[in-house]
Amino acid sequence: MDPIPLSSLQHWLYCPRQCALIHNEQVWAENRFTAEGQLLHKKANEGPDEHRATGSILRALHVSSEKLGISGICDIVVKSMDGRYTPVEYKRGKPKSHRADEVQVCAQALCLEEIFQTEIPNALIFYGTTRRRTEVPLDQTLRDLTLATIAAVHEMKRSGITPLAGYDARKCDACSLIDLCQPKALRLKRGAAAWFSHQLASDNTTDSNRI
Ligand code: SF4
Repeated sequence: MDPIPLSSLQHWLYCPRQCALIHNEQVWAENRFTAEGQLLHKKANEGPDEHRATGSILRALHVSSEKLGISGICDIVVKSMDGRYTPVEYKRGKPKSHRADEVQVCAQALCLEEIFQTEIPNALIFYGTTRRRTEVPLDQTLRDLTLATIAAVHEMKRSGITPLAGYDARKCDACSLIDLCQPKALRLKRGAAAWFSHQLASDNTTDSNRI
């Protein structure tokens, strides 16, 4: 099983079509939001690892899980003196209503658990707007959602199918792929397809009435 990138989980939960465009069709475009996100990751990754009396800070740590078929980079992993690992993910903006950020950091924790044969009860997300770390309990509900998302992205890769999606202003207006995706045109196409199917169905009905 080829590993899927950790970032694909977040893309899938934001919009399955966005995920397929990026990870199946290798399409990418930057906008202000993605550029801000890249900058935040770069800042977090800069500098060497730190080893102090209280523990270590590991930066840009490459992780993977053979069992789950995922791989990626943790912005920061804190290792305490008693051997506990805590992944810290850096995100632009503030805590969101969807769970995409939490799923991404949970997947990092699953990788670390497999690599270091340990249990990780919590992760942290640092949000650029609030400039605070939010604690993310890695409970069973979040772990199940993360596993289901990993399975869904593997299936998307296997099928090679890019799902259609309608225009949703809350998501599409912030999406860097909007010009390439053309979600409003998709809605029109779907409208035309529905009209065509309806016409076919009514033609068939008329024909059978004739018989
Ligand atoms: S523009 Fe909208 S439908 Fe298209 S990929 Fe982005 S979020 Fe998904």
